[in-house]
Amino acid sequence: MKMMKSLLTAALAASMSLVATSALAKDTVGISMPTKSSSRWIADGNNMVEQFKDAGYKTYLQYAEDDIPTQLSQVENMIVRGVDVLVIAAIDGTTLSSALQKAADAGIKVVAYDRLIRDSANVNYYATFNNFQVGVLQAQGIESALGLKNGKGPFNIELFGGSPDDNNAYFFYDGAMSVLQPYIDSGKLNVVSGQMGMDKVSTLRWDGAVAQARMDNLLSAHYTDKRIDAVLSPYDGLSIGILSSLKGVGYGSAGMPMPIISGQDAEIPSVKSILAGEQTATIFKDTRELARVTVGMVNAIMKGTQPEINDTTTYDNGVKVVPSYLLKPVLVDKSNWESVLIDSGYYKRSQL
Ligand code: BGC
Repeated sequence: MKMMKSLLTAALAASMSLVATSALAKDTVGISMPTKSSSRWIADGNNMVEQFKDAGYKTYLQYAEDDIPTQLSQVENMIVRGVDVLVIAAIDGTTLSSALQKAADAGIKVVAYDRLIRDSANVNYYATFNNFQVGVLQAQGIESALGLKNGKGPFNIELFGGSPDDNNAYFFYDGAMSVLQPYIDSGKLNVVSGQMGMDKVSTLRWDGAVAQARMDNLLSAHYTDKRIDAVLSPYDGLSIGILSSLKGVGYGSAGMPMPIISGQDAEIPSVKSILAGEQTATIFKDTRELARVTVGMVNAIMKGTQPEINDTTTYDNGVKVVPSYLLKPVLVDKSNWESVLIDSGYYKRSQL
């Protein structure tokens, strides 16, 4: 009897300590973001930390300031610290293969966040926006602002692409060209420099200063005796550089209105620029939604269930097609910024 009682006590104590351990041990998510130089990634990081916390996870968030070795060592450090899952927005989508092998060996699952991680089998899921559609919307903004559908033209245009090491940049460019190419072919749009294709128009590391320097060159080499009517820019940070180059030669004045210019991310300085009549449009990608999808994926991984996926064909990373969830991007211009950005609670009116 006595022995029975002590066995029971031991069993009870063991089960209580199990309860205590599982209540204490929170699963930890390592979040590796590319840079703080763009406010969208800051919002991404903050939204994820908040939403993971609400879902009962601990987080370990790091930014790599657009430096590939820094991101690599941050990810390796997260693996050594024993995170349970990694969420990574890669700087260069091709440089993480060895680190991800280490993650896989340690049983750590990986979610590619917004940008596809390439050349690795060890990417479990991909949470992103419909990146081709981002490019389509950017170009449709140009198409409608120029009146191309109503037969207006010909107009002069220059094209900018994103960073050549970011898989998204090709999707944005291809999406945009699916709209613009027919007008180029029919002569309604004229790329005066002749610079087309990602090999000629990309902008390493999405750097606004690089875009500004390229725009300076384009203007002095090709536009001293002609007007430029439109610029395809894939990201707000590039649009700002391009706009200052244009201002430098007199655009944005009464006799020389700004060309039509696109963007992406609805960053505050660019929304302000839209309201001031400089940038024409941007693409809003609700980072709260992207965080929600990512938290859902991590939850499913931890529970061993299937996450919500809506695309199993588009994102081939060179080794496998990564099951993805694609959110919808939204075109924002002067006509809808209030309903999209303010009414949704994304920004406060006072911020703009
Ligand atoms: C993101 C864009 C962003 C760009 C530059 C891309 O991978 O999808 O939203 O504008 O990187 O940060």
